[in-house]
Amino acid sequence: MRSKLVAGNWKMHGGMVQNRDLLGAIVAGTAALHKAGFAVCVPYPYLYQAQTLLRDTHIQWGAQNVSQHDKGAYTGEVSAAMLMDFGCHYVIAGHSERRALYGEDSHTVALKFKAAQVAGLIPILCVGETLDQREAAITEKVVAEQLDTIIESVGINALAKSVLAYEPVWAIGTGKTATPGQAQEVHAFIRDRIAAHSPEVAAGLKILYGGSVKANNAEELFAMPDIDGGLIGGASLVADEFIAICRAAN
Ligand code: 13P
Repeated sequence: MRSKLVAGNWKMHGGMVQNRDLLGAIVAGTAALHKAGFAVCVPYPYLYQAQTLLRDTHIQWGAQNVSQHDKGAYTGEVSAAMLMDFGCHYVIAGHSERRALYGEDSHTVALKFKAAQVAGLIPILCVGETLDQREAAITEKVVAEQLDTIIESVGINALAKSVLAYEPVWAIGTGKTATPGQAQEVHAFIRDRIAAHSPEVAAGLKILYGGSVKANNAEELFAMPDIDGGLIGGASLVADEFIAICRAAN
């Protein structure tokens, strides 16, 4: 049986004072929840703060991006080993904002995925279609391409040591959540595609849903058989909302 995971993706939000209050509230508000796992993926400058405030708690932390390179003349980049220095557990790879705004293609995402695992991080690999692609009825084709590139590059056993997130681009930050049925359909498609390589890996892999998850829709999404928790953007910045989503997963 897969346990659930709720991970916050703060994106480019936060500040030393707000973070302290938010993390304190999350730690306190989820203290009684022992079944699901919880994490926050914070901007790089706040990793040390997250490490300091979360180190002896049940909340794990991570980053939102990582360089595919080990070291070198890559101005502005951050390596996986550096993330390990700050106690990161997770790193998001291939978020649609990175793909769309920073030109990361599936090949680059695969390199980042590998670099993260080599250092000991668990990648949270994001896949998902745009509105145009959904309307053109090519959701499965798009998601399959994103997934297959990673599997071909890293292998099915490496995929087993990651977390997937299905994030339909049209549902991110728009308030338009995929219905539980729509999300379940793609989650089942992803799991089936992985099962073609290995039924065991498919059965054990967590597939999170992301895209306008809120306190008022989390429970019905998480009740779906192939939805193993959520990757939460906007609602992860509001303590009460995030805690309620964590409770829905527990
Ligand atoms: P929202 O929850 O703000 O829609 O963002 C989802 C997301 O992109 C998480 O990675």
